[in-house]
This record gives sequence, C-alpha cells and structure tokens, in this order.
Amino acid sequence: MAKCPACGFESPDGSLCCDFCKEPFRRDRPVPAPKKPAEPRKEIPEEFLRLDSGGSIPRVPPWLKYAAWTVLAAWFVIIMTLIGIYLAKQNGGQQAGMAGRPVQAP
Ligand SMILES: [Zn+2]
Repeated sequence: MAKCPACGFESPDGSLCCDFCKEPFRRDRPVPAPKKPAEPRKEIPEEFLRLDSGGSIPRVPPWLKYAAWTVLAAWFVIIMTLIGIYLAKQNGGQQAGMAGRPVQAP
C-alpha cells in the first residue's frame, strides 16, 4: 500500500496518484537512467525535452484543499438549510392556515 503524503489515504501499490485526493505520488526510487539517451533526443523536439511530468508545477498546500472543501460543504449546508426552511414555511403555512381558520362566532 502506498500512503498519500497529503491526506494519508492508502492507495494500492503502483498508483500514480492518490485515489482519494489525486495527489501525485513522488517516486521514492530513482528513475532508471535511459540506456540510450542520444537516440530519443533526436526524435523528440527541443521544446518537448524541457517538459516534465508535473514535478515543477507548484503544489497546492493541503490546508488549502481542506479549506476549499470546507467552504464547499458550508455552502451546501447553508443552501440545504434554506431549502428546508422554505419547505417548512410552506408546510407550516398550510397547516397554520387550516388550523387558524376563523371560527364563525355565533
Ligand atoms: Zn490523498
């Protein structure tokens, strides 16, 4: 099992990124050097040689991910609460209307 450095979720061996948060795993083992470095360089254009697999892309700090999920969850809760209040008012209004029907005074 490979443990995610960001969230601690355990993904199966051989995974390239975390199954939970998609954090890319850094390889502990050094990548074996290509046996023939001269050959592929002739085929691959110069501009593509400088590309890497994302190692130089700045990583999002874990606390920012948690903060983003927290904000999203908070919005979800707020919206569901508002919907609940709206439905409760509709229901309550109908019941109150029926219960509070003016009684005809004799
Ligand atoms: Zn993860």
